[in-house]
Amino acid sequence: MGKKALETKIVTAGRASKWTQSLVNPPVSRASTIVFDTVEEMKHATANRGNKALFYGRRGTNTHFAFQEAMVELEGGVGCALYPCGTAAITNAMLAFVKAGDHVLMVDGVYEPTRNFCDTILDKMGVETTYYDPLIGEGIRDLIRPNTTVLFLESPCSITMEVQDVPTLARIAHEHDMTVMLDNTWASPINFQPFEHGVDISIQAATKYVVGHSDVMLGTAVANEKCWAQLRESSYLMGQCTSPDDVYLAMRGLRTLGVRLKQHQENSLKVAAWLAERPEVDRVLHPAFESCDGHEYFKRDFKGCNGLFSVVLNRGNSEALAAMLDGMEHFSMGFSWGGFESLILANENINSLRTVAKRDYAGPLLRLHIGLENADDLIADLERGFDRLNSVLAKTA
Ligand SMILES: *Cc1c(COP(=O)(O)O)cnc(C)c1O
Repeated sequence: MGKKALETKIVTAGRASKWTQSLVNPPVSRASTIVFDTVEEMKHATANRGNKALFYGRRGTNTHFAFQEAMVELEGGVGCALYPCGTAAITNAMLAFVKAGDHVLMVDGVYEPTRNFCDTILDKMGVETTYYDPLIGEGIRDLIRPNTTVLFLESPCSITMEVQDVPTLARIAHEHDMTVMLDNTWASPINFQPFEHGVDISIQAATKYVVGHSDVMLGTAVANEKCWAQLRESSYLMGQCTSPDDVYLAMRGLRTLGVRLKQHQENSLKVAAWLAERPEVDRVLHPAFESCDGHEYFKRDFKGCNGLFSVVLNRGNSEALAAMLDGMEHFSMGFSWGGFESLILANENINSLRTVAKRDYAGPLLRLHIGLENADDLIADLERGFDRLNSVLAKTA
């Protein structure tokens, strides 16, 4: 077989004929019970139950196996575990690799529910978490203890968008026999190759760009050879399983991931460049811009960007932000992202969500997800939004 370019892989991944049965798409296979004709077949299925073989509904059907294979083909690694959402993927990956008395290094810019999991459930289990600055680099050495077992990264970070030096951090963690986990949701399975940069387990909130249409919750964790069996069996024991209908939609989303991301990228670069020139904007936190912390690692390690970034405003207050956001025509307000539609939200005190990476932001942050609409329509919408913001600020000045 010849070497396949990424665009080709996106079309062919997970479409082996054993899954598709001659259809273009692997069909939705629903099952709780799998039935066997002979004792011998049942014994064989039991022996192979971790190996993409029909055994019991919770282990998955051909719909799941096809999607798992596609994720491995795109992201790397040797196996993919599926979860009902991205958060379940994160928490179950961590639970599979910690025990009471362990210590975890967690990036300070992590997605908020991941932090809350560490501070409540891991804490209750007797697993201690230390938050580290996403830009710590070699300094991570000073935080490693004899009982540190997991290094968790999220690059770029949520909302503040710092890009991490993943290969350096992973190399140091491996010198200490730690398991390296990455929340790779921003890059999707195609813009950052985790296993080429030293990651052991790569996690996706497939809810975002993989599904791509804001209508399914789903999580994935792809592991390398060293970690796969432990991740798979732990997740199975935790009862993690997913609906074949949701998995089917994720597989359908995958097919257009490449072209969608190209358009999200083009639109977001155009909108971010316009924002960078606005008097209301102090700083653009978009990994493709020099003003974003860790931009050099983005240039070195990523294949492209997408529609998600933030900007720091020079000033603003709750009333002015509400005037701007309430009146948007094309941007909706919502917490998720990665669908075809544009989203916006304001954060007035991001430092309250950080323990070590608090920074001196001039004003509130706006987080934008730039969708597939026409970029000029989005810019005009933001321009009218800034007019509303400014008129409230002028009154309160
Ligand atoms: C949304 C998100 C998650 C959680 O995904 P859910 O499917 O909503 O649970 C995890 N990590 C990042 C970076 C996210 O943006």
